[in-house]
Amino acid sequence: MGKMIYLDNAATTKTAPEVVQAMLPYFSEYYGNPSSVYDFAGKSKAAIAEARGQIADVLGAKKEEIYFTAGGSEADNWALKAAFEAYSSRGNHIITTKIEHHAILHTCEYLEKQRGARITYLDVDENGLVRPEELEKAITPETILISVMFANNEIGTIEPVKEIGRIARKHGILFHTDAVQAFGQVPIGVDEYNIDMLSSSAHKINGPKGIGFLYIRKGVKIRSFVHGGAQERKRRAGTENVPGIVGYGAAARRAAETMEERAEKETRLRDHLIARLCGEIPYVRLNGDPAKRLPNNVNVSFQFVEGESLLLMLDSFGVCASSGSACTSGSLDPSHVLLAIGLPHETAHGSVRLTLSEETTLEDVDFVADRLKEIVQNLRNMSPLYEDFMKKKKK
Ligand SMILES: *Cc1c(COP(=O)(O)O)cnc(C)c1O
Repeated sequence: MGKMIYLDNAATTKTAPEVVQAMLPYFSEYYGNPSSVYDFAGKSKAAIAEARGQIADVLGAKKEEIYFTAGGSEADNWALKAAFEAYSSRGNHIITTKIEHHAILHTCEYLEKQRGARITYLDVDENGLVRPEELEKAITPETILISVMFANNEIGTIEPVKEIGRIARKHGILFHTDAVQAFGQVPIGVDEYNIDMLSSSAHKINGPKGIGFLYIRKGVKIRSFVHGGAQERKRRAGTENVPGIVGYGAAARRAAETMEERAEKETRLRDHLIARLCGEIPYVRLNGDPAKRLPNNVNVSFQFVEGESLLLMLDSFGVCASSGSACTSGSLDPSHVLLAIGLPHETAHGSVRLTLSEETTLEDVDFVADRLKEIVQNLRNMSPLYEDFMKKKKK
């Protein structure tokens, strides 16, 4: 096989070499338990404090508002379950959307079925945008939490978070956002956006896997998620993942420093790829908002084509891509996000997501566009649906 072209950066990213370098000393050199009292352990403790500061700086948050977790899914679970418990005396209603990550949706389902929560799943428009007026209308005196993702992992749509935050604040309701796809990719200020809780994960921004954080605004009542030792201000027990935390700090600082330049470059390549696919392949549609979109996300549907076949063919050319989302591939259900933006099942099935990185080149995207043109045509030539469609069209 020749060169691999990795276009699945929404699933996970390469850990940056300088991030790995920053982590290395915390395995075998400074391996002390941060909770121990001797000077040697102080090294680990100081490293955690530094990383917490690096992350807080990116959000305009306070250091003590950052709580490390084992990833984005845990942060999402914590935010929803603990807020539901802590605010249960005020009500049992949570407002979220139909296009959230499964870490949110399945947690909501659990709260609904096992804990007596009432959940409103907001519709989105054809580009995947939540309508703030609709959100405001869904608020009842029982509403205790609004959870809307910052940017969608499948179609890249960036939600009107500022407006949602303003509405939540106006009604005195907690606002949580799953910012796993947005943190380090687009500017976020927790005060500017009135965000009370925010989930993030290192491996989506060139950090290591298995480490994330939940930002919890000072004053928000929230229960501990893991009971045990006094780590993370007694809210999330367990000896800290010191190398992971150090790597996360380094990745966050790096992402913030390179954000503008990366976004500019990726947006240019993204739009070039979209223009080529939509201009050169018939019966194609772009999914997600054309403008309010993550700089690195391309998601397109090809009529008369199976997304899974497309992925296998792309793979044979060394191109890593995804259809819908990694969690749902392998099952026959089309992506809940693509259905929520109104795609018919057949169209949703013919979708691919290509997510670029700072390392992606113009040659890479041109190679992928060229291959996709051939692959789509070849698959259509084998499709009875396409044959019927062309026959009818000629008549
Ligand atoms: C990847 C992702 C998650 C889950 O994060 P993990 O660290 O893999 O648990 C949650 N939400 C969104 C939007 C994601 O993209």
